[in-house]
Amino acid sequence: MVKAIFPGSFDPIHYGHIDIALRAAQLFNEVIVAVYDRPLKNLIFSPEERIALVEKSFEGHPSIKVMGYSGLTVDFCHRVGAQVVVRGLRVFSDFESEFRMALANHRLAPDVEMVMLITNEEHTFLSSTTVREIASLGGDVTTMVPPHVNEALKARFAQMSETQQMNHMKSLRD
Ligand code: ADP
Repeated sequence: MVKAIFPGSFDPIHYGHIDIALRAAQLFNEVIVAVYDRPLKNLIFSPEERIALVEKSFEGHPSIKVMGYSGLTVDFCHRVGAQVVVRGLRVFSDFESEFRMALANHRLAPDVEMVMLITNEEHTFLSSTTVREIASLGGDVTTMVPPHVNEALKARFAQMSETQQMNHMKSLRD
């Protein structure tokens, strides 16, 4: 039985991630989509929100599980008994950082293998950053994320612009 994890920040999950997880599920007996809790990035969704959005994306796929984690990815692999870390590769620049990370992880945990899956060509340009940027400017991301993620993005940016307006009014008043 080969268990794999597919780690990332998923802020938010998009069709590029979903494609990689579904393809990994064809190769391994179980895939855990591992949502990293506090990456060194500005996040718009909390760990709990990101986990909930990922869970809903894989409803009806019993071999795909979703878990949050913190700390080293290879330590998480050992905790859950996973032998493989799956990553997705989009453009050539992804290769360089993944290559370095794979070597570092292999130094820390020689028993864990890294498996890179090449993106589906229609998702080459897709990243969570692109999705967030387009959604924050009111653009249409319906071809990039599932409907429940689109709704969550709309709600979050509406909330953020309300807060900004309130702060702006407060600063005018004070
Ligand atoms: P990171 O892991 O760098 O925080 P993400 O959480 O967005 O970035 O991505 C998790 C994993 O999904 C990474 O392996 C990343 O390369 C992969 N990935 C992201 N976008 C795509 C895409 N469009 N196609 C294939 N793989 C992707």
